[in-house]
Amino acid sequence: MSAVSQATLAQPLEIKTTTCYMCACRCGIRVHLRAGEVRYIDGNPDHPINKGVICAKGASGIMKQYSPARLTQPLRRKSGAERGSAEFEPISWEEAYSTIVERLAKIRATDPKKFAFFTGRDQMQAMTGMFARQFGTPNYAAHGGFCSVNMAAGMIYTIGGSFWEFGGPDLERARLFVMIGTAEDHHSNPLKIAISKFKRSGGRFVSINPVRTGYSAIADEWIPIRPGTDGALLLALVHEIIQTGLYDRDFLAAYTNAGYLIDADPQSGSQGLALRSGKDRGHGSPHFANDELWWDRISEQPVVNHTPGADPSLAGEFRMPDGKPVKPAFQLLMDRMQQYTPEWAADITGIPAGRIRRLAHEMGVTARDEKIELPIPWTDSWGGEHEKVTGNPVAFHAMRGLAAHSNGFQTIRTLAILMSLLGTIDRPGGFRHKAPFPRAIPPVAKPPKSPDAVRPDTPLAGLALGWPAGPDDLFIHDDGTPVRIDKAFSWEYPLAVHGMMHNVITNAWRGDPYRIDTLMIFMANMAWNSTMNTVEVRRMLNDRDESGEYRIPFLIVCDAFQSEMTAFADLVLPDTTYLERHDVMSMLDRPISEFEGPADSVRIPVVPPKGECKPFQEVLIELGSRLKLPAFVHADGSRKFRDYPDFITNFETEAGSGIGYLMGWRGKGGEKSLRGEPNPRQWEMYAQNNCVFEYKLPPSYQYMRNWNRGYHEWASRTRLRRNFDPLIIQLYSEVMQKFRLAAQGKGPSTRRPPAALAKRVETYFDPLPFYYAPLEVQVTDNARFPLAAITQRPMAMYHSWDSQNAWLRQIHAHNYLFVNPKLAQSFGIADGGWMWVESMHGKVRCMCRYSEAVEPGTVWTWNAIGKARGAWRLAPDANESREGFLLNHLLSEELPAGGNGGPRISNSDPITGQAGWYDVRVRIYKAEAGEPEETSPQFEAMPAAPGTNPVRKLWQAFVAGTGQWK
Ligand code: SF4
Repeated sequence: MSAVSQATLAQPLEIKTTTCYMCACRCGIRVHLRAGEVRYIDGNPDHPINKGVICAKGASGIMKQYSPARLTQPLRRKSGAERGSAEFEPISWEEAYSTIVERLAKIRATDPKKFAFFTGRDQMQAMTGMFARQFGTPNYAAHGGFCSVNMAAGMIYTIGGSFWEFGGPDLERARLFVMIGTAEDHHSNPLKIAISKFKRSGGRFVSINPVRTGYSAIADEWIPIRPGTDGALLLALVHEIIQTGLYDRDFLAAYTNAGYLIDADPQSGSQGLALRSGKDRGHGSPHFANDELWWDRISEQPVVNHTPGADPSLAGEFRMPDGKPVKPAFQLLMDRMQQYTPEWAADITGIPAGRIRRLAHEMGVTARDEKIELPIPWTDSWGGEHEKVTGNPVAFHAMRGLAAHSNGFQTIRTLAILMSLLGTIDRPGGFRHKAPFPRAIPPVAKPPKSPDAVRPDTPLAGLALGWPAGPDDLFIHDDGTPVRIDKAFSWEYPLAVHGMMHNVITNAWRGDPYRIDTLMIFMANMAWNSTMNTVEVRRMLNDRDESGEYRIPFLIVCDAFQSEMTAFADLVLPDTTYLERHDVMSMLDRPISEFEGPADSVRIPVVPPKGECKPFQEVLIELGSRLKLPAFVHADGSRKFRDYPDFITNFETEAGSGIGYLMGWRGKGGEKSLRGEPNPRQWEMYAQNNCVFEYKLPPSYQYMRNWNRGYHEWASRTRLRRNFDPLIIQLYSEVMQKFRLAAQGKGPSTRRPPAALAKRVETYFDPLPFYYAPLEVQVTDNARFPLAAITQRPMAMYHSWDSQNAWLRQIHAHNYLFVNPKLAQSFGIADGGWMWVESMHGKVRCMCRYSEAVEPGTVWTWNAIGKARGAWRLAPDANESREGFLLNHLLSEELPAGGNGGPRISNSDPITGQAGWYDVRVRIYKAEAGEPEETSPQFEAMPAAPGTNPVRKLWQAFVAGTGQWK
């Protein structure tokens, strides 16, 4: 042992707490340091999210910290070097800042929308969104549009909340847990802890998924399903629950719009909309008067909903005093569900009708017969006093398996309706919200309504992202064309509430709807695993127009690692790791709230930044100050915030509001919470408290929060909500109907879709859920490409972030295509043999792995294990680029809209713009003897970026499966 290491070992071990970022679950960690170096990471036992549990990724953070792929200095593409060649020269931060500011200042002074700013799976969207708004560009979004916007939108437009950060299954009290379309490791440690307790307490766990790995492997029952058909299954379950009368009528009558009277007059301009009294109920909301009518089955006449003593008819057809025919929304739902029998769904999903019936029966009977009662008094929105909180113990969890299809919005609406029929919304044992949810349905934040919102040298007049409630909230020109580069909030994708990052490069390259000048990408691998059509997108990034200028003239990429994307940058900004920076998981963004109340958390640096790395937040503060964006400077133009910690401490959403990014330890001495003046010692207080602030609601505010007067009054005071009106579950969606009416030339809005889109809007904007095959399936030759192909994230890696991680590479250094053995054998493909998988867009050579744990009509693999050669500072012949492969080459970001040769349209949900990742159909065949035993396509090896570590230390370099040190 050398003298140096002996001296090092003699130093005391230091332990610092912060928040993990090896995935998005935000567990508390303890980082053990010696002589300023990270030695070990374990879970923080005092943290509410993970209670000391750590996963393989979290424990491997040390290898991310010391990765050879770390970028360490700002880089500029060498003069004369082609984009994508990754030939860079180091520059100073001052040069980087002045280059960006000079360029952006010109754009801002002329046409701010020529600056587009899109970010990946970062946890600072409140801040990045604020920067974009202050700059004045509408062209901003994070990764949600290509991730899971259908899950957010489908649920929030129906029940006012959604899964994961926004809400989840109450497994402490549930008796039946149904997980559908969830990756093997989604919501990693917290969900594993909850499932483990649930199973130990005797709960029954059913998993519905084409693949049985991860969570599905420990389910009591696995129900394999064909990808993209979940909507059909859920409709059949709703059908059965209605047919057997196993729905919670009292819940539907009181808390949903089941009893609202809907205009059933086909001649009416407002057909399909609810009838209203026209009198405001005094709940304080300018957006929702809550004056819809019921048909009271006691007095047999129309009354305003929740009139004391009234009981709404949920079934039947009635006539208003003026003769207008009306139907309760629930009758319309029942009419629609008639057709969706289990036999109908069996043909689509591959699940036998008897199994669907049995599952529906189990859900309905568990909800009905195993009721929970908690002795917690509460008051509802209409003044009704309740002595107890009750619940129906059936809980669900769902994610991208449902969402990432072009029929996902209607599928997820159906799931939310099923959960509502079972009476499980924000009740014990069912689904429960996490603050700041529930929100208004839809939330009141709206995108701008016209191009006038974009003006030179002026902040955007409105939020770049919001929640349209009808055609009047679309962000379009007078002629109906989109204002945003990604076409979000246009007639093509009206409810694209998370934007459409997956179309930005293609649209900007084509100049449709216009060309941009500068694209800034933060932490998103858009030249590899975060894009469809990878080969073409890489070409677009490098393509020039007739004048020889790049079609996307300037590309800024900020990342901590040398990825496939950094190769295409004109300017690379080296970000820090999560162990080197301050961060907030804020109530203004995606906090770590639990069912019992709001909670937020922070990261605090445990080691100094490597080289010249700067946290991206600091970069935004610096750019905002230099560009003199109003929120970042005083009236005299002088800088307002010293740095990011200072910004977090002192920023308030409105001057004097007392609301900032962090809600804990506010007030001058840290004596207040939620609201209060800035506290100069706030960071210190978070550091002393495991980096977390938790606010426990009184038990009477912890349930029924859509309709809980006490909770709403508290939420209005603390500004979690703006008003205290009830949040009525939308079994029937008037928002959808308003779009449909516009497409039919009717309805309250004067806006009409362009003729070419009218049919599309009329078809998909159905106020009641329905099933359609994913758009890609509709235009595929399904006889030639009969198989579904899907990906999921592996347990041991979070997207591409961990491909450089020496420990995690020993678990996965390459991936296989998992194929049911019967299917593989029918093509003569051996276990471990080379094969081709081909879609109508492209083909990939890969290795086959037999797996009984996949339904026979589906093949699948792990996402982002395969790498471009040289990326992530891996050796050019590393397993990841020779044997690992990327399924994205088979996907396309666009589809032929009217058949081949017709106009192209995004491969996305026509309602929300969610990317249809899992809609591709493929065929497989054996690779010929003599073909190279490596994946195809291949790309020229990326050279090492200046400042990355030229030497991979021995302990960082073992390549799994080869027995070699690289
Ligand atoms: S689940 Fe694992 S990787 Fe994710 S935050 Fe928790 S410890 Fe970190």
